[in-house]
Amino acid sequence: MKPLPDSPLSLWLDTYGPYTPNPSLQGNRKVDIAVIGGGFTGVMTAYFLKVAEPSLQVALLEAKTIGYGASGRNGSFAMTVVGLGFDVTPVLIGKRRFQVAHRYMMRAVDEVDRLILSEKIDCDRIRPGFLRMATTKGYIKRLKHQVERMNTFGFEDVYWLDPDEARQRVNSPRYLGGMWEPRLVLVNPAKLVRAERNLAECLGVEIFENTPALEISSGAEYKIKTPGGQITCHKLAFATNAYTHLFPALKSKQIPAFTYMIATEPLTSQQLEPIGWQGREGIEDARNLIHYYRITPDNRLVIGGGPVGLTYANNLDADSSQSAWQHLEQHFHWLFPSLKAVRITHRWGGPFSVTADLTPAMGYVGDKSAVYSLGCIGHGVSASHLNAQVLRDLLLERQSDLLECPFLNRRVIPWPPEPLRMGVALALRGYLQFEDWVYERKIART
Ligand SMILES: Cc1cc2nc3c(=O)[nH]c(=O)nc-3n(C[C@H](O)[C@H](O)[C@H](O)COP(=O)(O)OP(=O)(O)OC[C@H]3O[C@@H](n4cnc5c(N)ncnc54)[C@H](O)[C@@H]3O)c2cc1C
Repeated sequence: MKPLPDSPLSLWLDTYGPYTPNPSLQGNRKVDIAVIGGGFTGVMTAYFLKVAEPSLQVALLEAKTIGYGASGRNGSFAMTVVGLGFDVTPVLIGKRRFQVAHRYMMRAVDEVDRLILSEKIDCDRIRPGFLRMATTKGYIKRLKHQVERMNTFGFEDVYWLDPDEARQRVNSPRYLGGMWEPRLVLVNPAKLVRAERNLAECLGVEIFENTPALEISSGAEYKIKTPGGQITCHKLAFATNAYTHLFPALKSKQIPAFTYMIATEPLTSQQLEPIGWQGREGIEDARNLIHYYRITPDNRLVIGGGPVGLTYANNLDADSSQSAWQHLEQHFHWLFPSLKAVRITHRWGGPFSVTADLTPAMGYVGDKSAVYSLGCIGHGVSASHLNAQVLRDLLLERQSDLLECPFLNRRVIPWPPEPLRMGVALALRGYLQFEDWVYERKIART
């Protein structure tokens, strides 16, 4: 396996403070269950396994350091949205499955919040709610339709805000109304995933960092080769998200696509005052290729989204994009013209995992001894925590209501080989971009 790239540090990882990674694996170890990947999914799968069966020997291998992947770089929104959101996902998966999926996501947000509060995790958690703001007339229509649809589906806690109500919360001259959903939790994701690492370790999970799984052979047991040794185990979890195509058995289930973010210097109270934003809500817009943004506890504005990167042959060297960062800067100036002079201090990006139908997938790999979870696209902060409980139940082969999750054991449409794969991915992105253009073509970008 080619080493994973060193990437520009996210705001969260850069400001984390001193972090001492665990030593890499040296020599041979035998355990009951090995987990590959040290993001939310992997760390929490290991954690929940030990909570369920303390006598199990569980080892976790992380190629770099805990939180290196999307879990240490994301927009920090623990949200109920799944797939492409409240209008496209029900069309893709059907009304009934969408209702089950949305209830699953509501539970995912509540569970991550419960964990943070019950374990007193220091991760700057707030529960400010979610605004999806309309910036064109077309988006007003789209969002009103989403609110109506969610209410008809039985989800009452999704509301339409008229322009005055929306701007009373956050005052951008671009806002023409918005959708309000109170459930959202915001966190510092690097603090969260590394605190979870500590919780897992306290329960006895052995965590090896800078330990990439290079090769896996299966027989009566799995043997996982790493640069300094080998893990032998009976059961295995792939918690490698956007990197999962690197494993031949899972190669065609997902591809990495890249999203980018920037963060400003802390805003002064004079700069914030005209914008309001007293509730510190997490905000997205109504596009397909969404923009997502929030303010941090030290009043930095953090914004991501817009352009999505794709690479030929799933090359992972695309964590930086000058053009995407420039786009984000221009977009935040457009949203908040009074902040044009504010300095950008951090620019970063990273891969998210995309299945061909843009819906998450979990299940067994072959027999019941190996499991995987992937495809949360940009909505995995909450989902990964509940998915970890699903992986636990699959690995322990125990019945639970979580196994009714609609993303489980479903047929995942395989991505075709190159060059067809690139063609399909470009066509899909092109369609989503075109639709955004149609909605936005009358906007004056001044
Ligand atoms: C910039 C960005 C913004 C996002 N914003 C949001 C958001 O606001 N809200 C939201 O819900 N979701 C968001 N997401 C998505 C969300 O962060 C992910 O869905 C979630 O963190 C996935 O967690 P994970 O543990 O499955 O994967 P990851 O955190 O990606 O962890 C996978 C780990 O596997 C490791 N690994 C890979 N190969 C190997 C190997 N061979 N051996 C050992 N280890 C290996 C990697 O190093 C990595 O640490 C965003 C993603 C990005 C990139």
